[in-house]
Amino acid sequence: MSFSVTPIACLSDNYAYALVCAQTGALAIVDPSEADPVVAWLGKNLGQKKVTAIWNTHHHPDHCMGNEELVAKYEPEYVAAHVSDKGRVPAQTKYLNEGDSFKLGDLDVSILHIPGHTTGAVAYVVKDGNDTAVFTGDTLFLAGCGRLFEGTPDMMHASLQKLAKLPGETKVYCGHEYTASNLKFALHVEPGNEAAKAKAASVAEARAKNRPTVPGVLSDELATNPFLRTDSAEIRGNLKIDANASGGEALGVIRKAKDNFR
Ligand code: ZN
Ligand code: FE
Repeated sequence: MSFSVTPIACLSDNYAYALVCAQTGALAIVDPSEADPVVAWLGKNLGQKKVTAIWNTHHHPDHCMGNEELVAKYEPEYVAAHVSDKGRVPAQTKYLNEGDSFKLGDLDVSILHIPGHTTGAVAYVVKDGNDTAVFTGDTLFLAGCGRLFEGTPDMMHASLQKLAKLPGETKVYCGHEYTASNLKFALHVEPGNEAAKAKAASVAEARAKNRPTVPGVLSDELATNPFLRTDSAEIRGNLKIDANASGGEALGVIRKAKDNFR
């Protein structure tokens, strides 16, 4: 890997991330919900590097409220979010569209527009040689997906399927530490899923040691995440989703069941 990603725990269960290009030292901070933990991390790790960029996955305060303080302190080259989030993301200077690509140091970055949780949600796909990482915000969580605050089930389904086409070994960095509770729901709707059982055991172990469950691996998500498994006969049977229902319809039912799951 010629890049590193460090999760920085923020608020009660958010992650900001520090992405560093090993060759050039270029550094992006992803989704700083608050400045203090990020400033503390940078204080220990910045060295000769500077903050090149701030990347926001969407406009919710728990993903961008640290922007202004970090901009004042580190003067990054730009603050990026989707073009439609103009006016909703503090200090935004770069307006992203589906398919945009640019560099962070030597790293190739490309943008996927993934509406559903919000209409302006984006994923940042980072590639270097065979290594791929994706920052998914509140759209794809490990073993779950975000609530549909602004989008429709069809939108979320299409967005998740877009992410599903990334290479299977892609590392998934999401916005919240929700993995353990997401897996409870995953096993509730698909109790026969052996991959989800194994994942729940390893996640329980990580959380008992207070370790983050990020990053996940995309191929594991395809095997365990009910929102990527709208074709599963077991899930459809348990939630009484018609075998002929579309993926979007199925996702809508699964999402409702999750909203009401305790
Ligand atoms: Zn959000
Ligand atoms: Fe969030």
